[in-house]
Amino acid sequence: DEVSNLTVAVRIRPMNTRELACVGATDIVRVRDNELIIRTHPNTGAGMSMDHIFQYDHVFWSCDEASPICTTQEDVFMTIGKPLLNSAFRGYNACLFAYGQTGSGKSFSMMGKNMCEIVDIDSERYSGITPRFCRDLFERISCLDIGWVATVEELRDWLLLGNKNRATAATNMNEKSSRSHSIFSIELCLSEGLNQGNSSRSRVSLVDLAGSERLGNSHNSEEKIREGVCINKSLLTLGKVISALADQKKNQFVPYRDSVLTWLLRESLGGNSLTSMLATISPASTHLDETLATLRYACQARSIVNRARVNENPHD
Ligand code: ADP
Ligand code: MG
Repeated sequence: DEVSNLTVAVRIRPMNTRELACVGATDIVRVRDNELIIRTHPNTGAGMSMDHIFQYDHVFWSCDEASPICTTQEDVFMTIGKPLLNSAFRGYNACLFAYGQTGSGKSFSMMGKNMCEIVDIDSERYSGITPRFCRDLFERISCLDIGWVATVEELRDWLLLGNKNRATAATNMNEKSSRSHSIFSIELCLSEGLNQGNSSRSRVSLVDLAGSERLGNSHNSEEKIREGVCINKSLLTLGKVISALADQKKNQFVPYRDSVLTWLLRESLGGNSLTSMLATISPASTHLDETLATLRYACQARSIVNRARVNENPHD
């Protein structure tokens, strides 16, 4: 067995035009190696500032593309995406999920800049973890015997279809995809020659979660309210699962069954999987509350311990 903590990375996106134009919105995030510092200035008083310091496995500063220290899409993939592929080839399940408020960079990281137009899967500089993962997967298996997904093009078509359906659903709801979860899942079956004499079967899931922001009172239609409540419940359950798993000593009941999302992710959270979380945040002071909520959630997730085993292939 491979016992490991959930790997947690945080990524900070650039300030957007709205944030830059907002009077009083400042960049409150500093990065020092794997440490992330949020500096808050109280509006009143003598201007005393306060630092909140967080530590993660990786902190990706992606705020200024022109800077040599900017973490690129390729860097993010190499650090947290590629290891999942390596795990899968060793027969382990692997999962990566992106968590953060709407507009913080989940889809940018998981899919890419234009998530519905990933036309050039091979060379697109802004393409995200999922298309890069597919590209590398097919590079590794192109000389081998492949099952039902024959080519990288075919896989890309599935990816595009999923994104298109999601975008259509989002348009019908008159908002972005902030209210839906997207799960991209691949099962890899390896015969003996490919895995040090053992056959194995492993699953990799790449998950772009719905926005983590708390629901306001801005919901106008009944359907939206129902949907919001439902998605809120799945993220709420995810939070409960994470806190139950983080507190292993107490041998708590883990409510995987309370939402479809946590049921689907049960093998990845506190189960048989090497799991990573990518928390995404905005650097702007205007999002302080949601950013702190995301960073605390990510800290808690970091203490989850998983016990991953190589899956033997029952078909051989
Ligand atoms: P989310 O999926 O969390 O709602 P998006 O991924 O759609 O957020 O990002 C919101 C906006 O910010 C998009 O226009 C996206 O292109 C931009 N963005 C996000 N992350 C980055 C980044 N690291 N670098 C540059 N732009 C980014
Ligand atoms: Mg998104």
